[in-house]
Amino acid sequence: MQINFIGTGGAFDFQLGNSAALLDFRGHRILIDCGNSTYKQLREARLADTIDHILITHLHDDHVGSLSTFLLHSKYFLKASRKANILVPSKSFLDYLCEFLRFSIPNYKDVVTFTDLSEFEGITAVDTYGLHIPEMPSFGYIFEDGEDVYAYSGDLRDPHIIFQTLEAQNYVNKKVKVFHDLNFDPNDSVHCYYKEIIPYLEKYKIYAYHLDPRDNPEDNPIPLLADFPEYLVANNPNLHFNSN
Ligand SMILES: [Zn+2]
Repeated sequence: MQINFIGTGGAFDFQLGNSAALLDFRGHRILIDCGNSTYKQLREARLADTIDHILITHLHDDHVGSLSTFLLHSKYFLKASRKANILVPSKSFLDYLCEFLRFSIPNYKDVVTFTDLSEFEGITAVDTYGLHIPEMPSFGYIFEDGEDVYAYSGDLRDPHIIFQTLEAQNYVNKKVKVFHDLNFDPNDSVHCYYKEIIPYLEKYKIYAYHLDPRDNPEDNPIPLLADFPEYLVANNPNLHFNSN
């Protein structure tokens, strides 16, 4: 299993790209989120033709802003000329997503297929409904492959649910890495405030994303993903096994 972030910024950090990642998982490449900047970045990196499945955390623009464009591009312009496939964590999220897609692609079923995530072994959806924005559906995801476990928070004000789920799964002798959104502003009520996840550093390797490193306060002990080139698409030329 290998994760490479396409962008690591938040909604307004246009220079860093919106947070999105490519996950190479059990022989499949999964795109996690497709925000405003993601389609452009995938095209620039010549990676748009390499994606097997898509996972969505929630429907903010910085997570789905270029999803419709990517779906249309996959169908009509890629060499494979195949429909993109979205892995959906629940029936209600599928309905919600279809309602969203219908606005930009009325015939969306011609360009995208959907697979129930439960058919996909090794991925656990963490239902974070209302824990990013009140009354807004959202999901985090936990991926397990061999001795590696990766948790991906999505946007999440309250980080405890991810760690509670990890505790409940009781991953003994596994290498668990948590990729979590983070904010350094105590008045931010929609993203995780860094002091809230400091206690989990004792037990877990945590990497923070969805932020601008220039805002990093001196007393923050949580590693920033942007400081780890091995997790960034821009530093991994081996990802280009296909091109378009
Ligand atoms: Zn969001």
